[in-house]
Amino acid sequence: MSKNVRVRFAPSPTGPLHIGGLRTALFNYLFAKKHGGDFVLRIEDTDQNRYVEGAENYIVDALNWCNIPFDEGPGKNEKFGPYRQSERKHLYKQYADQLIAEGKAYYAFDTAEALDTERKNHESECKTFMYNWHNREKGRLVNSLVLTSEETLAKINAGENYVVRFKSPQDETLHLKDIIRGDIKIDTNVLDDKILFKSDGMPTYHLANIVDDHLMEITHVIRGEEWLPSLALHKLLYNAFGWEAPEFAHLPLILKPTGKGKLSKRDGDKLGFPVFPLEYTATDGTVSRGYKEDGYFPEAVVNFLAFLGWNPGTEQELFSLENLISEFDLERVNKAGARFDPDKTKWFNHQYMQQQLDLDLAKKFKATRPELTEIDVNYIALVVGLIKERATFVQDFWDLSHYFFSAPTSYDDKASKKALKEGTAELMQKTIEIITTTKEFTIQNLQTNLKSWITDNEIGFGKVMMPLRLALVGALQGPDVFEIMFMIGKNETVKRIDDLIKSI
Ligand code: GLU
Repeated sequence: MSKNVRVRFAPSPTGPLHIGGLRTALFNYLFAKKHGGDFVLRIEDTDQNRYVEGAENYIVDALNWCNIPFDEGPGKNEKFGPYRQSERKHLYKQYADQLIAEGKAYYAFDTAEALDTERKNHESECKTFMYNWHNREKGRLVNSLVLTSEETLAKINAGENYVVRFKSPQDETLHLKDIIRGDIKIDTNVLDDKILFKSDGMPTYHLANIVDDHLMEITHVIRGEEWLPSLALHKLLYNAFGWEAPEFAHLPLILKPTGKGKLSKRDGDKLGFPVFPLEYTATDGTVSRGYKEDGYFPEAVVNFLAFLGWNPGTEQELFSLENLISEFDLERVNKAGARFDPDKTKWFNHQYMQQQLDLDLAKKFKATRPELTEIDVNYIALVVGLIKERATFVQDFWDLSHYFFSAPTSYDDKASKKALKEGTAELMQKTIEIITTTKEFTIQNLQTNLKSWITDNEIGFGKVMMPLRLALVGALQGPDVFEIMFMIGKNETVKRIDDLIKSI
């Protein structure tokens, strides 16, 4: 790639960033970093009606949490700034004017009611109304193509509302290219004359988007499939201005877990998984869950997002951000929709959990439970090392490990039925004896002494091990009993066995 690669993530700040948007940001980031290029954040806030306070901060926080910060954007390396379109407002009118002057765009004065009537009339004849070459010069629509220049000017000077429409060509075939989808042919006769600019001084998405991509020297536009229908207009606009167009890649949709239809927030609510990276509180107070707050590691989120549409072509599934940067390739992105699998996201989290240092996990765990405030973090780290294999999230730790910190307060019913038989009390009494007389309280010594007593007396392991585990844990779960005894210490072990005997 000869030119310096520059890509942009261009969200509209209309609410929290959905994981689909985050995936777009990630793919842009990976592509930029792979080619030693720049990742730009541009805030597309031209639609003031949909603007949501706090949404921009949310987007920035989400990118930072995922460790995919932008190189250039609001408040950072502003060499192509400003990066909020609302602050670039003054820039766009000249481009609309240029297209009008060159006969490539025109003023239209049709009122919303007039257009509505057109639409209804068409519908009653089972047709779809499109503002384009079909009808723009027939006289029913009011625009500068049918008015004289004096009439047009008079309307503008009188303060009449207008829009600037792009004059889509008639009877042409556009040959478009998409890195993921290959060659696409579009008949220009199916395009309508999209609005580029409004008399309130604001450009529409289409004009602002391509003017900014041009001015910001964007080389590759990587965005969601929902923007594919805009590609023809965007290419026509680049041609109209005589600018070189960037290359385009439209990422596949993210589908519901069933594989049918686009993944929505409602799917998440129904099936109990977040669709946002970070928790979000809407202005009406409703809180939406976030991956971060649900206990996901950012590495796991990045890894599962990368697999929504991309694959390395091998069996490997675990990719650090560095690995992703070196392996990522737009050519390996599928065009078919990517099915979202909530169980797989958990699998990734479990995998990343195993890679974390026990001490780091212990610190997080300690912070979540008041019961652990007084406990030495190094002891917690040892416990974490014993149980993390069975955990997906840090919040699973307590259920898996509470007995390392306090004696069971009850015994599981089913487990009791299974473990407590005739003679259990005597066997447990003997177990206490062996434990107390074991010289050095080590896992090895406990194991040797208890096991040889059991085999020498042909007692049967279950008869001792099951009630012993029940005494220590309160259930028939957990890691190796000898490890548990070692961890909680001799006195506590004896006390718990004694408690069990008393309860029988
Ligand atoms: N502002 C658009 C969005 O919200 C950007 C689309 C594009 O990347 O061109 O997704």
